[in-house]
Amino acid sequence: MPGAPTAHIWLPYTQMQDAPEPLRAARTAGSRIILEDRRELIDAVASWWTACHGYNHPHIVMAMEKQLHTMPHVMFGGLVHEPAEKLAARLAVMLPGPLNRVFFADSGSVAVEVAMKMSVQFWLNQGDTGRTRFLSFRDGYHGDTLAAMSVTDPDEGMHALFKGYLPEQVIAPIPRDEASADTFRQLLHDHQGEIAAVIVEPLVQCAGGMKMHDAATLKGIADAAKDAGVLLICDEIAVNFGRTGTLFAHTQANIAPDIICLGKALTGGVINLAATVATADLFDAFLSDRAEAALMHGPTYMASPLACAAANASLDLFDSEPRLQQVATIEAQLKRDLAPLASLPGVVDVRVKGAIGAVQVSELHNLDWLKAQFVEAGIWLRPFGNVIYTMPPYTVTSAELSAITGAMAKILPRWAAREIDAE
Ligand code: PMP
Repeated sequence: MPGAPTAHIWLPYTQMQDAPEPLRAARTAGSRIILEDRRELIDAVASWWTACHGYNHPHIVMAMEKQLHTMPHVMFGGLVHEPAEKLAARLAVMLPGPLNRVFFADSGSVAVEVAMKMSVQFWLNQGDTGRTRFLSFRDGYHGDTLAAMSVTDPDEGMHALFKGYLPEQVIAPIPRDEASADTFRQLLHDHQGEIAAVIVEPLVQCAGGMKMHDAATLKGIADAAKDAGVLLICDEIAVNFGRTGTLFAHTQANIAPDIICLGKALTGGVINLAATVATADLFDAFLSDRAEAALMHGPTYMASPLACAAANASLDLFDSEPRLQQVATIEAQLKRDLAPLASLPGVVDVRVKGAIGAVQVSELHNLDWLKAQFVEAGIWLRPFGNVIYTMPPYTVTSAELSAITGAMAKILPRWAAREIDAE
């Protein structure tokens, strides 16, 4: 196959017929990915937003090495182990209020599936059989498995293409202003009795284009869900562990979700692990004399000791190193560095929240050219939708961050000029 990147690998989100040859990663260190050809790239996106402590942090590596020699994996059915118990207890303490029952999964999408299943079954267990749908938001993203896709933005989730395969959900605009707030509340009202839960990414809808809403908007969503008597799921997978400036994003709105999904940076970006955390009340609804009232889910690699050891070590680092301070410093620099980009031709909006900086352009074209330009500048940055963004490791140095924003400032006008040329 001409242009085929590799003979046997099927790449994600890629039209394999004409995909450019992917780069070959050999090593990682600090904020950098080192390629087989020895080029070093500063990772502006922290490996899909996971590597919050940078790569190869010795504390995590050591904890994993120790666990690897003791018990890399053991099934979680009928057995528990110290790394999982410790992690669950720590998460319960870190999370506000009664969010204290942790179900481990192996990926973010599965954590969302579990949250959805928990929500439906919460109602079933109380004899309410009608609540089989979810209210989710435009521009939201919750994963690539089918139920998670169904609550993702209809375009992003390719709902038209997969019609018939996906459950149909109620999808509302984020209630940013009066008109969208009316639509949202009306939809909640119209589907009263059908909706099991509202699911939202708190403060930043990441994969849907780094769309941001403020704490008051999030509070409005939580209040409306409460008034309507439905559950609230906060999908924090992309923003958990400091990304928006606080350990968890939803705490900025002082709300009390019934379920929260964690993932990505949970292990500091070294190994897959996710968690669905429920309140004590929600958990209690699964206690019954009826066997079928139990939560019927159990991923093979759930709560892998190796992954739990990594996550415990990652949590240590939030205590021993100044992560939230680093996020605040990154936020200040991103605001400073990216603000001037707002006046560039083709730029529609510049947004910063915590360690997330996004530049929205009118239309993203010549994507491969754009990515190649960043690589040439020594930056690993993956634009999507119409957004060029950075979500660096919190340990990124000021000079590295300047290199990222500097490359954006240099490449964007050239890219925009190409757009003008093309017209
Ligand atoms: N929820 C959110 C908010 C996400 O950003 C993602 C992944 N980008 C997921 C869920 C799915 O996680 P995973 O890719 O680990 O399945």
